[in-house]
Amino acid sequence: MELKRRDFLKIVGGSALIGGSAISALVEEAGIAHASPHEEHGHSAEEDHGHGHIEEASGIRWAMVVDMRKCSEQEGCRDCINACHYVHNVPNFPDPKEEVKWIWKDEYHHVFTDISTLDPYVPEHIKRHPFLVLCNHCDNPPCVRVCPTKATFKRPDGIVAMDYHRCIGCRFCMAACPYGSRSFNWRDPRLGLKGRELNYEFPTRMRGVVEKCNFCVERLAQGKIPACVEACKHGALTFGNLADPNSEVRALLRENYALRRKPQLGTKPSVFYIIA
Ligand code: SF4
Ligand code: SF4
Repeated sequence: MELKRRDFLKIVGGSALIGGSAISALVEEAGIAHASPHEEHGHSAEEDHGHGHIEEASGIRWAMVVDMRKCSEQEGCRDCINACHYVHNVPNFPDPKEEVKWIWKDEYHHVFTDISTLDPYVPEHIKRHPFLVLCNHCDNPPCVRVCPTKATFKRPDGIVAMDYHRCIGCRFCMAACPYGSRSFNWRDPRLGLKGRELNYEFPTRMRGVVEKCNFCVERLAQGKIPACVEACKHGALTFGNLADPNSEVRALLRENYALRRKPQLGTKPSVFYIIA
């Protein structure tokens, strides 16, 4: 028998009182595990291509390659962020505690927490430049495992999507995501859109709902590329099918050494970084 939403809210209401250890248990339950030693450093670009169940099911695994060599040259550029946040009506709340972000820039040592502490000899120009971050659309997404209402789910093409109507605001997914990729609407997001041009083709959200990058699933359905990729005039962002050996993303990963964030957790991100 399916649980009614009201009953479920009662259960999860209790969960607001759950302490850190219970959350940790949940996260462990979500399958964030230590990967085998050969996955610990960087990534081998070919390592999970052609072996994942996603590719077998649909022939598609959407992925993004961020070429930081090109991005770093554009000091202060926010074209990708502005395009994404316009297209998805992402509210603008300046207070960091209320901020909602789908794609943003963060410092190297926050982005690559695992390796930045290990290597004190990283060149200054890499440490200095902010890195673009977004949801990694993990192949093994812990956020999906902990979501009690299936408001967040993985599609056969690898996109970790959200149904805002099913989100009950328990924030288990935020606790489980090891990348801080999710934002919670503490305030009515429509207040953060006042005075701004709206995109009427994409829904605004409600207070109490989690949101994040959706790999522009709505644009892909129309045959378009993600808004951030389209907006970047410098060719720093490439989007494509990781399951297709002839795709541009696969070519980039063949020809360059790329990193994924926190590979030791075994989440298998679909976002890759070419650093130098
Ligand atoms: S980056 Fe975080 S929110 Fe995105 S799929 Fe991975 S665990 Fe989920
Ligand atoms: S893929 Fe789409 S939703 Fe994700 S950061 Fe880029 S523009 Fe935003």
